[in-house]
Amino acid sequence: MTKHNLRHIKTLSLCALIAFTTSCKDDDKKEDTTMTKNENILLQEWTGPFDGVPAFDKMNVEDVKDAVEKGMELGLKDIEKIANNPEPPTFENTIAAMERSGKELDRVFTYYGILSSNMSSPEFRDIQTELAPKLSEYNSKISQNEKLFNRIKTVYEASQTTPLEDDQQRVVELTYKSFEMNGANLDAEKKKRYAEINKELSSLYTKFSNNVLHDEENYVTYLTKEQLGGLSESFTRSAAKIASDKGQDGKYAITNTRSSMDPFLTYSTERELRKQVWNNYYSRGDNGDEYDNKELIAQILKLRKERVGLMGYDNYAEWRLQDRMAKTPENAMDLMMAVWPAAIARVKEEVADMQAVANANGDNITIEPWDYRYYAEKVRQKKYDLDSEEVKQYLQLDKLTQALFYTAGRLFNYEFTPVAEGSVPVFHDDVKVWEVTDKDSGKHIGLWYLDPFAREGKRSGAWATTYRSHTTFDGDETVLASNNSNFVKPAPGEPVLVSWDDATTFFHEFGHALHFFSSNVKYPTLNGGVRDYTEFQSQLLERWLSTDEVINQFLVHHKTGEPIPASLVEKIKKASTFNQGFGTTEYLASALIDMKLHLADPENIDIEKFERETLKELNMPKELVMRHRTPHFGHVFSGEGYATAYYGYMWADVLTSDASEAFKEAPGGFYDAEVAKKLVDYLFAPRNSMDPAEAYRLFRGRDAKIEALMRDRGFPVPKK
Ligand SMILES: [Zn+2]
Repeated sequence: MTKHNLRHIKTLSLCALIAFTTSCKDDDKKEDTTMTKNENILLQEWTGPFDGVPAFDKMNVEDVKDAVEKGMELGLKDIEKIANNPEPPTFENTIAAMERSGKELDRVFTYYGILSSNMSSPEFRDIQTELAPKLSEYNSKISQNEKLFNRIKTVYEASQTTPLEDDQQRVVELTYKSFEMNGANLDAEKKKRYAEINKELSSLYTKFSNNVLHDEENYVTYLTKEQLGGLSESFTRSAAKIASDKGQDGKYAITNTRSSMDPFLTYSTERELRKQVWNNYYSRGDNGDEYDNKELIAQILKLRKERVGLMGYDNYAEWRLQDRMAKTPENAMDLMMAVWPAAIARVKEEVADMQAVANANGDNITIEPWDYRYYAEKVRQKKYDLDSEEVKQYLQLDKLTQALFYTAGRLFNYEFTPVAEGSVPVFHDDVKVWEVTDKDSGKHIGLWYLDPFAREGKRSGAWATTYRSHTTFDGDETVLASNNSNFVKPAPGEPVLVSWDDATTFFHEFGHALHFFSSNVKYPTLNGGVRDYTEFQSQLLERWLSTDEVINQFLVHHKTGEPIPASLVEKIKKASTFNQGFGTTEYLASALIDMKLHLADPENIDIEKFERETLKELNMPKELVMRHRTPHFGHVFSGEGYATAYYGYMWADVLTSDASEAFKEAPGGFYDAEVAKKLVDYLFAPRNSMDPAEAYRLFRGRDAKIEALMRDRGFPVPKK
C-alpha cells in the first residue's frame, strides 16, 4: 500500500546509519574526498529556504553511481572511526555517533528514491542493478563489523544495570537488538554458516520470484471476438492492445496477473474461460515443471530454521516476531483464529446468496471458485445498487486536498500554505509544495510535497516518503514529507474526479505524512516503523473521509456544488461490509499458512500436502482459495519482508477499528479535542520511541479489542 522511504538501507538494519562529517581529519585523502563531494550535487548539503531543501532541479542520473559509491566510502570510513575509537565505548561516542552518521548517503537516497519511483528510466534501472549488490555488501560490512558490535554490546550491557534516559535507552536496545537478530553475537564458525545461509537464501528468493514471473508471462489466455461477453469496453480495448503487442492481432489477451484476472473473473460470462484463467493464476509456481516452486520453498524453510537455530530460536516465527507488536506467534495466531470462524461462516451466506442468483438466472451451476467473483458482483448490484460513476462526481482532487488540510487542522492544529511557485525546487512541474505550520504559534513544522499525476517512469499505486525526518539530537530538524499518487491528469480547466477507493487511499497516504510531521523523537532510529503497527495510523486517518464535516464541506458535486446526498453515503458505507467473507477468508487463509509453515518442522515437508491438509483442518470453504497460494506467495518467499508477517495487515486493522470507536464514543465524535490530543500525543508523535502496545494503552486506557473489527466487517461479535 505504501512505500515508506526508499532507504531500504536504513530499514534493513540500523547498522547502515553511517558516516557523517569529516571522518578524514588525519587522512591524506581528505583533499580528494572533499573535492569530489563538493562536485557531486547529490552529496551536497541542502541549501535554500526552510533549513535547506533537496536540489531536485539539479539532479542528474549520471551523478547517481558516483554519489552512492562516494557516500558508501564516507560511510564506511566513519564506521571504522567509531569502531576504532581508543576511548571506552559510551552512548555518545558509539550509539549517538552512529545516529549521526550516514548523512551523505541519506541525501543521495532522497534523489535515488525519486529517480526510482517518480522519474525512472532504463538508464537509471541499469545503475540500480549495478549498485544493488554493492549496497548489500556495504550493509554486511557494517552488520558484521565485530569491533563496532562489541562497542554497542558494551553500551547495551552497561545500560541493563544503569539505565540511560528513556529515549537513549530505547535507541540502544533497538540498535543492539537489530545487530543481535542478525547474528552479531555468534562465534566465528556460526557466523560463517550464517553468511552462507543468507547467500544461499538470497539466490533461492530470486529464483522463486523468477519462476512466478515466468508463469505470469507464459500463461496468457487469448480470446476471440465472440468470447468478450460481460467485459467492459475499456478492459476489452486494453486486452486487444496487449494481444497485438504479443503478435496476436485481432485477439484479446488475458494475462496471468491479478489486474487482468480479477476483472475478467468478475465480469466474463464465459464460464469455461473463467475456469481456465482461474487455473492459470492459482497454479503459478505449481505446474510441476522446472519453474515449480514447491521444492524451493521446502529448502527456504529449512535454511530459515537452521539460521535462527544458530541463534538459539526454535523456529523462524519466534525469531521474527520478537520485535513486532504481536511479540509472539501465539498472539498473532490467536487473533487470526478469533476472526476465522466468522469469516468462513460468512462465506457460507455469501455462497447461498450467489447460488440463489444463479438459480434465478436459470444458470444450472454449483458455485465453484471461478464463479465467486462473477456472482458476487451480481449480488452486489442487486443489494447495493451503487453506481461508482455517480459517486465520482462528488470527489474532486482539489477539494479532497482541502479536506486533508481541514482534517489536519482539526486534529493536529496544522496549517498548510502553498509556497511561492519556484521558491522550492521540484523534480516535475506537476509537483506542488505547501508549508506546514502550527496554527497558533506559527512554528514551522515542515514542507509537504504532492506529486499527484501518473506519468511514464512513475511507478503505479500511491505512497508516502520523507526526504528529511524530524530529530532534535543535533538541533531541530524539520520534516520534508511527500505524497505520491497516479491520478489521470485532466485537460486544462477540467476537475480531477476520483473514485471512492482512490479518495480513501489519498487520506491513507496523508496519514503517513501526518505521522512524519508529528514526530517528536530525538534520534533518527526512533523514527523507524514496526511492521504490524506502522500501517495503523494511516488506516485510521482514512476514517475522516466519511465524517459529516468533510462530506458537507468538501464532497460536493463538481458542477452543482451540492454536497453528496446522505443516501449515497449510506450506500457506500453499507457496501463496505459486502463480500467480507470472501476478502477476509482468502486473506486469513494465506496469513495462517504463512505462520503455520514457519512453525512446522521443515524436515521432509511436502508443500502441496501441507497446504492441502492444513486448509482441510481449518475447514477452508471449497468455493475459494488462498489469496496467495504457497507456490507463488511472494510476500513470504521472494524475500523476508512479510515472512510470518502477513498477519500484520489484520493486526493493524484491529487497532484501526478499535481506535476509531474511541472517536465514535467521544462527545465530539471524530473531532473530539480530547481524543484528538491523545491521538497525536500517543499514537502519532512518539513513532517508535516507546513500545507500541504501551502507546496504545495510553491512548485507549486498555489494549485493543477485536470487537470493533468484527463490527466493521459486519461479522457477529463473539460473546465473552
Ligand atoms: Zn500505507
